[in-house]
Amino acid sequence: MQTIIFALLSLVIIAVMYWVIVPRWVKRYRTVHVEGLDSILEGTARRVEIKMKESSSVNAFSLPGGTILVTSALLAQSNDEILAAVAHELGHISRKHHLKGFIVTGMLISSAILALGYLGYLAGAFLILFSFLFQRFLSRRFEFEADSYATTLVGRESYSNLLMKYESSGEGRSILSTHPTVWERLKKI
Ligand SMILES: [Zn+2]
Repeated sequence: MQTIIFALLSLVIIAVMYWVIVPRWVKRYRTVHVEGLDSILEGTARRVEIKMKESSSVNAFSLPGGTILVTSALLAQSNDEILAAVAHELGHISRKHHLKGFIVTGMLISSAILALGYLGYLAGAFLILFSFLFQRFLSRRFEFEADSYATTLVGRESYSNLLMKYESSGEGRSILSTHPTVWERLKKI
Protein backbone atom coordinates (compact mmCIF):
# COMPACT_ATOMS: atom_id res chain seq x y z
CA MET A 1 0.00 0.00 0.00
CA GLN A 2 2.80 2.39 0.89
CA THR A 3 4.37 1.73 -2.51
CA ILE A 4 1.12 2.63 -4.30
CA ILE A 5 0.83 5.87 -2.33
CA PHE A 6 4.44 6.69 -3.12
CA ALA A 7 3.88 5.98 -6.84
CA LEU A 8 0.76 8.20 -6.92
CA LEU A 9 2.54 10.92 -4.99
CA SER A 10 5.31 11.00 -7.58
CA LEU A 11 2.67 11.58 -10.29
CA VAL A 12 1.17 14.46 -8.33
CA ILE A 13 4.58 16.05 -7.79
CA ILE A 14 5.45 15.93 -11.51
CA ALA A 15 2.00 17.31 -12.45
CA VAL A 16 2.34 20.21 -10.00
CA MET A 17 5.81 20.96 -11.30
CA TYR A 18 4.64 20.91 -14.93
CA TRP A 19 1.42 22.85 -14.64
CA VAL A 20 1.79 25.04 -11.55
CA ILE A 21 5.42 25.75 -10.66
CA VAL A 22 6.90 26.16 -14.17
CA PRO A 23 4.09 28.45 -15.55
CA ARG A 24 4.34 30.59 -12.38
CA TRP A 25 8.10 30.79 -12.53
CA VAL A 26 7.97 32.02 -16.14
CA LYS A 27 5.53 34.84 -15.34
CA ARG A 28 8.34 37.00 -14.01
CA TYR A 29 9.93 37.30 -17.44
CA ARG A 30 9.03 40.14 -19.74
CA THR A 31 6.73 39.49 -22.71
CA VAL A 32 8.37 40.42 -26.01
CA HIS A 33 7.11 40.97 -29.52
CA VAL A 34 8.70 38.92 -32.29
CA GLU A 35 8.51 40.56 -35.69
CA GLY A 36 6.81 38.36 -38.28
CA LEU A 37 5.39 35.87 -35.78
CA ASP A 38 1.79 36.76 -36.62
CA SER A 39 2.34 36.01 -40.27
CA ILE A 40 3.82 32.53 -39.65
CA LEU A 41 0.98 31.81 -37.23
CA GLU A 42 -1.64 32.77 -39.78
CA GLY A 43 -3.97 29.88 -40.46
CA THR A 44 -2.86 27.89 -37.40
CA ALA A 45 -5.44 29.50 -35.05
CA ARG A 46 -2.69 29.54 -32.44
CA ARG A 47 -1.79 32.34 -30.10
CA VAL A 48 1.40 32.25 -28.18
CA GLU A 49 3.13 34.37 -25.58
CA ILE A 50 6.86 34.92 -25.99
CA LYS A 51 8.90 35.81 -22.91
CA MET A 52 12.54 36.79 -22.73
CA LYS A 53 15.22 35.59 -20.34
CA GLU A 54 18.59 37.33 -20.14
CA SER A 55 21.22 34.82 -21.19
CA SER A 56 24.33 34.77 -23.34
CA SER A 57 23.48 31.40 -24.89
CA VAL A 58 21.20 31.25 -27.92
CA ASN A 59 18.21 29.19 -26.90
CA ALA A 60 14.43 28.83 -26.80
CA PHE A 61 12.18 26.63 -24.67
CA SER A 62 8.50 25.88 -24.78
CA LEU A 63 6.71 25.41 -21.50
CA PRO A 64 3.75 23.23 -20.55
CA GLY A 65 1.36 26.20 -20.35
CA GLY A 66 2.08 27.08 -23.99
CA THR A 67 4.48 29.96 -23.37
CA ILE A 68 7.77 30.17 -25.26
CA LEU A 69 10.81 31.44 -23.41
CA VAL A 70 13.58 32.87 -25.61
CA THR A 71 16.99 34.08 -24.50
CA SER A 72 18.21 37.64 -25.09
CA ALA A 73 21.06 36.15 -27.14
CA LEU A 74 18.54 34.53 -29.50
CA LEU A 75 16.70 37.86 -29.88
CA ALA A 76 19.99 39.43 -31.01
CA GLN A 77 20.13 37.06 -34.02
CA SER A 78 18.49 37.62 -37.41
CA ASN A 79 14.71 37.68 -37.59
CA ASP A 80 14.71 34.52 -39.76
CA GLU A 81 16.65 32.68 -37.10
CA ILE A 82 14.39 33.85 -34.26
CA LEU A 83 11.29 32.80 -36.20
CA ALA A 84 12.77 29.40 -37.06
CA ALA A 85 13.66 28.75 -33.39
CA VAL A 86 10.21 29.90 -32.22
CA ALA A 87 8.57 27.74 -34.93
CA HIS A 88 10.40 24.69 -33.55
CA GLU A 89 9.03 25.40 -30.07
CA LEU A 90 5.57 25.92 -31.56
CA GLY A 91 5.93 22.40 -32.94
CA HIS A 92 6.40 21.04 -29.41
CA ILE A 93 3.32 22.95 -28.23
CA SER A 94 1.20 22.06 -31.21
CA ARG A 95 2.02 18.32 -31.03
CA LYS A 96 1.32 18.36 -27.27
CA HIS A 97 4.77 17.04 -26.42
CA HIS A 98 4.59 18.34 -22.84
CA LEU A 99 1.41 16.43 -22.08
CA LYS A 100 2.68 13.29 -23.82
CA GLY A 101 5.99 13.61 -22.00
CA PHE A 102 4.21 14.01 -18.70
CA ILE A 103 2.05 10.92 -19.23
CA VAL A 104 5.02 8.77 -20.28
CA THR A 105 7.37 10.07 -17.55
CA GLY A 106 4.66 9.65 -14.91
CA MET A 107 3.88 6.10 -16.04
CA LEU A 108 7.54 5.10 -16.15
CA ILE A 109 8.41 6.58 -12.76
CA SER A 110 5.38 5.10 -11.02
CA SER A 111 5.92 1.68 -12.59
CA ALA A 112 9.59 1.77 -11.57
CA ILE A 113 8.50 2.55 -7.98
CA LEU A 114 5.91 -0.26 -8.09
CA ALA A 115 8.48 -2.69 -9.51
CA LEU A 116 10.99 -1.73 -6.81
CA GLY A 117 8.34 -2.17 -4.12
CA TYR A 118 6.75 -5.41 -5.30
CA LEU A 119 9.23 -7.20 -7.53
CA GLY A 120 12.55 -6.24 -6.04
CA TYR A 121 15.68 -4.35 -6.99
CA LEU A 122 16.46 -6.23 -10.18
CA ALA A 123 13.06 -5.53 -11.74
CA GLY A 124 13.24 -1.94 -10.50
CA ALA A 125 16.70 -1.43 -11.98
CA PHE A 126 15.58 -2.97 -15.26
CA LEU A 127 12.61 -0.60 -15.45
CA ILE A 128 14.76 2.42 -14.66
CA LEU A 129 17.15 1.47 -17.48
CA PHE A 130 14.22 0.88 -19.82
CA SER A 131 12.74 4.27 -18.82
CA PHE A 132 16.01 6.02 -19.59
CA LEU A 133 16.24 4.46 -23.05
CA PHE A 134 12.57 5.02 -23.83
CA GLN A 135 12.72 8.68 -22.76
CA ARG A 136 15.70 9.17 -25.00
CA PHE A 137 13.89 7.57 -27.95
CA LEU A 138 10.79 9.67 -27.29
CA SER A 139 12.65 12.91 -26.94
CA ARG A 140 14.43 12.37 -30.27
CA ARG A 141 11.10 11.60 -31.90
CA PHE A 142 9.64 14.82 -30.47
CA GLU A 143 12.58 16.78 -31.89
CA PHE A 144 11.96 15.38 -35.39
CA GLU A 145 8.26 16.20 -35.12
CA ALA A 146 8.97 19.78 -33.98
CA ASP A 147 11.49 20.15 -36.83
CA SER A 148 8.98 19.08 -39.44
CA TYR A 149 6.31 21.35 -37.97
CA ALA A 150 8.75 24.29 -38.00
CA THR A 151 9.67 23.54 -41.61
CA THR A 152 6.04 23.88 -42.67
CA LEU A 153 5.86 27.27 -40.92
CA VAL A 154 9.12 28.95 -41.97
CA GLY A 155 10.22 26.90 -44.98
CA ARG A 156 13.01 24.39 -45.42
CA GLU A 157 15.72 26.89 -46.30
CA SER A 158 15.23 29.08 -43.29
CA TYR A 159 14.94 26.11 -40.97
CA SER A 160 17.98 24.28 -42.27
CA ASN A 161 20.02 27.48 -41.90
CA LEU A 162 19.18 27.46 -38.22
CA LEU A 163 20.15 23.79 -37.87
CA MET A 164 23.44 24.32 -39.72
CA LYS A 165 24.33 27.26 -37.51
CA TYR A 166 23.56 25.15 -34.48
CA GLU A 167 25.90 22.45 -35.80
CA SER A 168 28.76 24.87 -36.44
CA SER A 169 28.44 26.29 -32.95
CA GLY A 170 29.46 22.84 -31.71
CA GLU A 171 26.42 22.30 -29.55
CA GLY A 172 24.26 19.17 -29.54
CA ARG A 173 27.01 16.72 -30.39
CA SER A 174 27.01 14.67 -27.25
CA ILE A 175 26.27 10.99 -27.81
CA LEU A 176 24.13 10.91 -24.71
CA SER A 177 22.23 13.98 -25.82
CA THR A 178 18.50 13.53 -26.16
CA HIS A 179 18.73 15.68 -29.26
CA PRO A 180 19.45 13.91 -32.53
CA THR A 181 22.44 15.20 -34.49
CA VAL A 182 21.89 18.09 -36.86
CA TRP A 183 22.63 15.82 -39.85
CA GLU A 184 19.96 13.36 -38.79
CA ARG A 185 17.58 16.28 -38.40
CA LEU A 186 18.43 17.84 -41.76
CA LYS A 187 17.79 14.53 -43.50
CA LYS A 188 14.32 14.30 -42.02
CA ILE A 189 12.96 17.73 -42.87
ZN1 LIG B 1 12.99 20.82 -29.41
